Amino acid sequence: PANISIRDLADKMNMAAIELIKNLMKKGKMATINQEIDFELAAQVAEEFDIIVELEEEKDLLEEIFKEVEDKEEDLEARPPVVVVMGHVDHGKTSLLDAIRSTHVTTREAGGITQHIGASTVTLNGKKITFLDTPGHEAFTAMRMRGAQVTDIAILVVAADDGVMPQTIEAINHARAAGVEIIVAINKMDKQGANPDRVKQELADQGLLVEDWGGDTICVPVSAVKGEGLDNLLEMVLLVAEMNNYKANPNCKARGTIVEAQLDKGRGPVATVLVQRGTLKVGDPIVAGCAYGRIRAMVDDKGRQVKKAGPSTPVEILGLSEVPVAGDMFYVANSDKQARQAADKVKAQGRLQILGQSQQKVSLDDLYNQ
Ligand code: GDP
Ligand code: MG
Repeated sequence: PANISIRDLADKMNMAAIELIKNLMKKGKMATINQEIDFELAAQVAEEFDIIVELEEEKDLLEEIFKEVEDKEEDLEARPPVVVVMGHVDHGKTSLLDAIRSTHVTTREAGGITQHIGASTVTLNGKKITFLDTPGHEAFTAMRMRGAQVTDIAILVVAADDGVMPQTIEAINHARAAGVEIIVAINKMDKQGANPDRVKQELADQGLLVEDWGGDTICVPVSAVKGEGLDNLLEMVLLVAEMNNYKANPNCKARGTIVEAQLDKGRGPVATVLVQRGTLKVGDPIVAGCAYGRIRAMVDDKGRQVKKAGPSTPVEILGLSEVPVAGDMFYVANSDKQARQAADKVKAQGRLQILGQSQQKVSLDDLYNQ
């Protein structure tokens, strides 16, 4: 939310706004004095005048407003694991997710129209698993930068005929940095050149020693195309979930993460959220960054309207004032008013975030004395 009007930027740079407008015009951008430009552009313009614009470290205002209270042990209940599929391009991430999704919807759900909301829930033996399909995605990076633990388990897909590749290593590093469990799926086992032992050796070189070689990395051979090994893989996911005993309090105001968001022509701002704590309900006033509003409707990954969503459940929500940023947290407020005021605070902070430094020394104090 780091936008600044031309007027404010000019003030902070100690310059006439017209100079900035002229500079923008040179860049082929028409702007008026009251128009807001984003941080990127502001930094570009300022640089040409020898002023460095920096983004001040963002205080997490919402986190302060909605301080988390430690849950009591007796309030915690088991929740489904949240899983992300990672791996090198073309190793079969999309195929694997599609295969899992198409074979593991329960009969009750099967009538629903599957729709793409960026996350989905599958069921095996009555137990749920939530898949996020936004791995290398910005949202994932944003969440990680916040240090947020959104995913519990990463399924690392490695093609049996191709082995460990650069993005495989990147994925391993990502998962390790985020502290998530890694389960290896050796995919494309149906192929002629499949060589799982080579994959295991290459994984060992990366410090991932699989179980049948005496290590503790779970490794499952699969074929996404033939649909083989998928149940086994999901059973391993549930096993890891059981060992880690993932829990959350379902009986409190909800909070969670924005997984995806966009502006829908007919429906307005639409966001897919992952509930991480509490239960989200239709009618709840929520805030996510500068966006706020009362939840007008919720749709699950099967395209069904739902009234509530508990921990580890992904849902698409309608009713926000604007499109929130993927990776941001959302919080249920006590009232519509509190939600709006919180969003307003975030917005105001965004305007104050740009501070200049250089020969001209625009200091933080100048900024706050405006
Ligand atoms: P992604 O880039 O990791 O999402 O990979 P895709 O799922 O798009 O798969 C890349 C290619 O590999 C596609 O042509 C798939 O049909 C193929 N593929 C994926 N899984 C398998 C598999 O288990 N066996 C075989 N033979 N081909 C596969
Ligand atoms: Mg893909």
